[in-house]
Amino acid sequence: MSSNTLPNTKNVHIIGAGIVGLCCALHLQRDGWQVTLIDKVGPGESCSFGHAGVLSETSALPNAMPGVMVKVPKWLLDPEGPLYIRFRYLPQLLPWLLRFLKAGTASESENTVRSLLALNAGTVEKYQTLVNGSQVRSLIRPSGYLNVYQNESSFNHASRGWELLRRHGAQLRMLSGEELHELEPTLSPSYIRAVLIENQGYTTNPFRLAQVLSEQFSQTGGIILRREVREVRLSAEGNVRLNLDLGYVESKKLVVAAGAWSHRFTAQLGVSIPLETERGYHVTIAHPEVLPSHVIMEAERKFVATPMEIGLRFAGTAELAGLEAPPNYKRAEILLRLGKRMFPGISGTEKTEWMGHRPSLPDSRPVIGKCPDAPNILFAFGHGHRGLIGAPMTGEIITDLIANRPPKIDITPFSPERF
Ligand SMILES: Cc1cc2nc3c(=O)[nH]c(=O)nc-3n(C[C@H](O)[C@H](O)[C@H](O)COP(=O)(O)OP(=O)(O)OC[C@H]3O[C@@H](n4cnc5c(N)ncnc54)[C@H](O)[C@@H]3O)c2cc1C
Repeated sequence: MSSNTLPNTKNVHIIGAGIVGLCCALHLQRDGWQVTLIDKVGPGESCSFGHAGVLSETSALPNAMPGVMVKVPKWLLDPEGPLYIRFRYLPQLLPWLLRFLKAGTASESENTVRSLLALNAGTVEKYQTLVNGSQVRSLIRPSGYLNVYQNESSFNHASRGWELLRRHGAQLRMLSGEELHELEPTLSPSYIRAVLIENQGYTTNPFRLAQVLSEQFSQTGGIILRREVREVRLSAEGNVRLNLDLGYVESKKLVVAAGAWSHRFTAQLGVSIPLETERGYHVTIAHPEVLPSHVIMEAERKFVATPMEIGLRFAGTAELAGLEAPPNYKRAEILLRLGKRMFPGISGTEKTEWMGHRPSLPDSRPVIGKCPDAPNILFAFGHGHRGLIGAPMTGEIITDLIANRPPKIDITPFSPERF
């Protein structure tokens, strides 16, 4: 391939066929656009491959919150803690960490909660509409979302966050140990408190979800190019020129949905965005002896247990070590150890492990909006811990922006110019 200039004025190219790019692609397609998805790997093979599958609208608390910072030293010192920083990466990480600290004020947390609740709204129903026909039931499951605690002081410490969500309309049920174990009898008796958020959901298989969405996209005329995008430039005529590993393409419109790699393209366009990656891990036990009936967040160790069609998945941890360092599968081993303690009935001999790059902004809000000096280029990335949840609304917003319609929700909190 050398050149591929599309004459169609209603054509859009999207860099990134993760869950965010796929949702943008499907919405744009339904709005009459000819869409080409470009990805260096197959659809859903990157971060969207191995997440925990949680679809909880109420998942809106920022990582940096008043009260969280005091826990950070303890987390870092605990070898089984949820946070790990690679010492050698620290100098590069420092500017992002400083912004993260700055985002931890009460007023910033309020802003983030408000904006994420709007972005997450109706996510389960949105997937039920996006996924065609017979696949929906097996892929998207309604479920309560349980957050479980082993000690009273952690439960009390978390109450500030729960109160914040309540103030913004979240419906929460505080459970005693007894009530919790009635719901989840296979959970270790060491759990003594829980918060139940009813009427949430999860996907039973993140990768199959991405595959089903990409098949739907292709079957309705969408094009998927397996290419690496090396450079994004604006041509003299104002079109977008993408230099690929082989040849180039030109397009009228471009969406950058390249997950944790997106800042490389924004930098080429003169826009500096403090995107980092919080690397996360999973371990999936193929044939667990027991399966919980809810999606469960271990609220102190910050990992999720999800009953998937492929087994029981334990997913979590935030490892700040950049895009290049190889995976450290000790993190997955820790998840397995903690998961077995959470469900003592599990032996977990047949298992798979994985690491993925969460695309994270310091204020826990994604970047969704037009490129400041090039309104035919749009940004849709940085969803951090909630890319699955926020992807459908992101697709709707991007489609509205491209069609010059006002988006359904206020997108000021997601502006690329907020940094
Ligand atoms: C352990 C873990 C658990 C999680 N659990 C949940 C959860 O329960 N619920 C939830 O909502 N979220 C969860 N997340 C977060 C979620 O997985 C991410 O936010 C989401 O997958 C990001 O999707 P994306 O499309 O932005 O990025 P990706 O899926 O990473 O897609 C970006 C794509 O861009 C492509 N790309 C990058 N650079 C180039 C280039 N130069 N040329 C071509 N292609 C390129 C990549 O190959 C990739 O396929 C979890 C994450 C982790 C790690």
